Amino acid sequence: MKSLPFFCRGEVIRGFGRGSKELGIPTANFPDSVVDNLPPDIGTGIYFGWACVGNGDVYKMVMSIGWNPYYKNTKKSMETHVIHKFKEDFYGEILSVVMVGYIRPETTFDSLEALIAAINNDIEEAKVKLELPEHHKLKDDNFFTSTASSSSVSPTATASTSQTIMNGH
Ligand code: ADP
Ligand code: MG
Repeated sequence: MKSLPFFCRGEVIRGFGRGSKELGIPTANFPDSVVDNLPPDIGTGIYFGWACVGNGDVYKMVMSIGWNPYYKNTKKSMETHVIHKFKEDFYGEILSVVMVGYIRPETTFDSLEALIAAINNDIEEAKVKLELPEHHKLKDDNFFTSTASSSSVSPTATASTSQTIMNGH
């Protein structure tokens, strides 16, 4: 995928309450302003990369890009599970991510257990792949240290600012 690594950031919005948190795998949702800026070659599926909330630490993440049921599956959604235990929710905060690699396509599962097992496999794969030097170095990218200044502007402005930053990569 020629657009990877792909850098983006935006406000964490409320999702559809599909209960990811109840499965132990909460996913932070991006608004349309971020999803609409995805390059066309980044299709649906599961990706791995790095993420940071506000100007906090950078953690490993897995992201699902899927069809958004709210728009009758005509628009994509981007949901990031940060591989870290947070003390509190972070709705309204700016989430910065770099998508580094692709894991697998979207699939449907016969049972909740099968879905959870697949996600846990994705998390393990992300953890291992992100240790590779060419992937690990993105953790220290300037994109993450520039979060502090951009989080002081409005979320909408941040989404467009991130375009400028992303183009630099
Ligand atoms: P929603 O449907 O609103 O997205 P989820 O059950 O998917 O609800 O929970 C997502 C929310 O959980 C995020 O918006 C964030 O505020 C919080 N959260 C807590 N820990 C994490 C984490 N490790 N990764 C992603 N989101 C987390
Ligand atoms: Mg979610």
